[in-house]
Amino acid sequence: MTKITLSVSKAYKNSGSFRFHRKKTKPAWKHYFLDDITGEWKFNTEWINPIKARILKLNVYKTRTFICEECSLVFEGLVKNDRMKIDCPECEN
Ligand SMILES: [Zn+2]
Repeated sequence: MTKITLSVSKAYKNSGSFRFHRKKTKPAWKHYFLDDITGEWKFNTEWINPIKARILKLNVYKTRTFICEECSLVFEGLVKNDRMKIDCPECEN
Protein backbone atom coordinates (compact mmCIF):
# COMPACT_ATOMS: atom_id res chain seq x y z
CA MET A 1 0.00 0.00 0.00
CA THR A 2 1.55 3.27 -1.14
CA LYS A 3 0.49 6.70 -0.07
CA ILE A 4 1.44 9.73 -2.14
CA THR A 5 1.31 12.87 -0.04
CA LEU A 6 -0.19 15.81 -1.88
CA SER A 7 -0.58 18.25 0.98
CA VAL A 8 -0.19 18.57 4.73
CA SER A 9 -2.07 21.48 6.25
CA LYS A 10 -4.06 22.64 9.23
CA ALA A 11 -7.83 22.40 9.10
CA TYR A 12 -10.77 22.64 11.48
CA LYS A 13 -12.10 19.24 12.46
CA ASN A 14 -15.74 20.26 12.58
CA SER A 15 -15.82 22.31 9.40
CA GLY A 16 -18.43 20.85 7.12
CA SER A 17 -20.56 19.25 9.80
CA PHE A 18 -21.15 22.60 11.53
CA ARG A 19 -22.04 25.83 9.84
CA PHE A 20 -19.85 27.80 12.24
CA HIS A 21 -16.97 26.14 14.03
CA ARG A 22 -16.91 26.67 17.77
CA LYS A 23 -14.63 29.46 18.99
CA LYS A 24 -12.50 27.27 21.20
CA THR A 25 -11.66 24.65 18.61
CA LYS A 26 -8.09 24.57 17.35
CA PRO A 27 -7.12 23.49 13.86
CA ALA A 28 -5.58 20.05 13.56
CA TRP A 29 -3.17 18.63 11.01
CA LYS A 30 -4.75 17.01 8.01
CA HIS A 31 -3.01 14.75 5.50
CA TYR A 32 -4.23 14.81 1.88
CA PHE A 33 -2.94 11.86 -0.13
CA LEU A 34 -3.47 9.43 -2.97
CA ASP A 35 -3.93 5.80 -2.02
CA ASP A 36 -3.67 2.70 -4.22
CA ILE A 37 -5.62 0.17 -2.14
CA THR A 38 -7.55 -1.25 -5.08
CA GLY A 39 -4.83 -0.69 -7.66
CA GLU A 40 -6.40 2.61 -8.64
CA TRP A 41 -5.29 5.93 -7.23
CA LYS A 42 -7.91 7.38 -4.95
CA PHE A 43 -7.91 10.72 -3.14
CA ASN A 44 -8.11 10.37 0.60
CA THR A 45 -7.63 12.41 3.78
CA GLU A 46 -6.74 11.57 7.35
CA TRP A 47 -6.16 13.38 10.64
CA ILE A 48 -2.59 13.17 11.86
CA ASN A 49 -0.59 14.28 14.88
CA PRO A 50 1.94 17.18 14.66
CA ILE A 51 4.93 14.82 14.72
CA LYS A 52 3.68 12.84 11.74
CA ALA A 53 2.82 16.10 9.97
CA ARG A 54 6.45 17.22 10.22
CA ILE A 55 7.70 13.95 8.72
CA LEU A 56 5.13 13.93 5.92
CA LYS A 57 5.92 17.54 4.98
CA LEU A 58 9.37 16.38 3.89
CA ASN A 59 7.80 13.98 1.40
CA VAL A 60 5.16 16.08 -0.32
CA TYR A 61 4.79 15.23 -4.00
CA LYS A 62 4.47 17.95 -6.63
CA THR A 63 3.22 17.91 -10.17
CA ARG A 64 6.03 18.45 -12.67
CA THR A 65 5.98 18.60 -16.44
CA PHE A 66 8.45 16.37 -18.28
CA ILE A 67 9.58 16.26 -21.87
CA CYS A 68 10.76 12.89 -23.19
CA GLU A 69 14.17 13.00 -24.87
CA GLU A 70 13.24 10.06 -27.11
CA CYS A 71 9.85 11.03 -28.55
CA SER A 72 9.43 14.66 -27.34
CA LEU A 73 6.19 13.76 -25.58
CA VAL A 74 5.15 16.27 -22.92
CA PHE A 75 3.61 14.63 -19.87
CA GLU A 76 2.93 15.31 -16.21
CA GLY A 77 3.98 13.27 -13.20
CA LEU A 78 4.15 13.44 -9.42
CA VAL A 79 7.64 13.76 -7.97
CA LYS A 80 9.17 14.43 -4.56
CA ASN A 81 12.03 16.55 -5.87
CA ASP A 82 13.64 17.77 -9.07
CA ARG A 83 16.13 14.88 -9.18
CA MET A 84 13.32 12.33 -9.51
CA LYS A 85 12.52 11.24 -13.06
CA ILE A 86 9.50 9.42 -14.43
CA ASP A 87 9.53 7.05 -17.41
CA CYS A 88 7.83 8.26 -20.56
CA PRO A 89 4.38 6.61 -20.94
CA GLU A 90 5.01 6.19 -24.71
CA CYS A 91 8.54 4.72 -24.61
CA GLU A 92 7.92 2.51 -21.55
CA ASN A 93 7.34 -0.70 -23.52
ZN1 LIG B 1 9.06 8.95 -24.95
